Amino acid sequence: MLEDSLNILPKPSISFECFPPNSNKQNFFNVLDKLKKYNPSYVSVTYGAGGNTRNKTIEIVKYIKEQTNLNPAAHLTCVNSTKEDIKNLIKQYHDMGVNHIVALRGDIPGIDGKYIPYKGGYPGTHDLIKDIKSLGDFKISVAGYPEKHPNAESFDDDLDYLKKKCDAGANEIITQYCFDTNKILEYKEKLKSKNINTPLKVGIMCISNFEQLKNFSNRCGASIPNWLESLFKDINPNNEISNSIATVIAYEQCSLLSQHGINNFHFYSLNKHVVATSVCELLGRKGTSE
Ligand code: FAD
Repeated sequence: MLEDSLNILPKPSISFECFPPNSNKQNFFNVLDKLKKYNPSYVSVTYGAGGNTRNKTIEIVKYIKEQTNLNPAAHLTCVNSTKEDIKNLIKQYHDMGVNHIVALRGDIPGIDGKYIPYKGGYPGTHDLIKDIKSLGDFKISVAGYPEKHPNAESFDDDLDYLKKKCDAGANEIITQYCFDTNKILEYKEKLKSKNINTPLKVGIMCISNFEQLKNFSNRCGASIPNWLESLFKDINPNNEISNSIATVIAYEQCSLLSQHGINNFHFYSLNKHVVATSVCELLGRKGTSE
């Protein structure tokens, strides 16, 4: 398989996802320096759940735009903000020269777990996308769910809503991470059957702390297969063995996807570089020494 990725499989197109650091910004900037060497098409910066890290997101996006040669993509959610607030933020990005937004609904769960729109805010992501389009020439990425979004009544409904987001102007679908590669391949077919032709980018989780990942996955509806659980049994998080296992898992998934014609990967870096960059190296995407 290694020989395949070096000699036969096309070099993948890659991007990385980061979150605004709570502390030790220098450490985060050092990680960006390592990621930069792999020439990603962009580095996306998340927007805190409930919009609570909004200013930190803006600050990091600005840093990436002004202090590095990377292209930032700013995540933006509809939660806890009026349309006017969000339009002002989009204009701020436009003025900074940031031209890529990851447009999301976010989560404000009501009693039954369903999303509650903010008063004067966007009822759904498709409305947000329309406004982003009207405010500038932005590239817009949206989220897709190979295991179905937990709020969706059915897979069919979920795909219909994804189509609505694409028809509103999304340029790219980034998937939630999914450890079952067959489900991702089935998802690709489902998109085709719904006539969703927006380019697909597969989200690849770079596992660092398996127990934390399990908790998070439980909340976002991503399943944890038994084989993954047994691989990380009794392994301490964030150490060399954990990183090696995480690298093999992510590399194998990328290779399999690549063999099925999917060569577009978005690495959930979790603000760490070892796993993400090791996978890039294994995929034949060499870092520069600069
Ligand atoms: P949507 O696609 O708008 O809605 C989710 C699902 O709800 C739809 O697929 C559909 O099934 C149903 N639905 C919604 N509206 C309608 C409607 N009008 N009619 C019918 N069905 C509907 N969260 C953050 O807080 N900050 C981030 O930075 C962030 N980044 C993310 C990046 C990626 C790549 C992914 C995959 C997720 C990210 N999330 C983030 C999580 C995301 O906010 C949650 O998954 C949230 O629950 C849904 O957001 P969405 O944009 O996918 O929602």
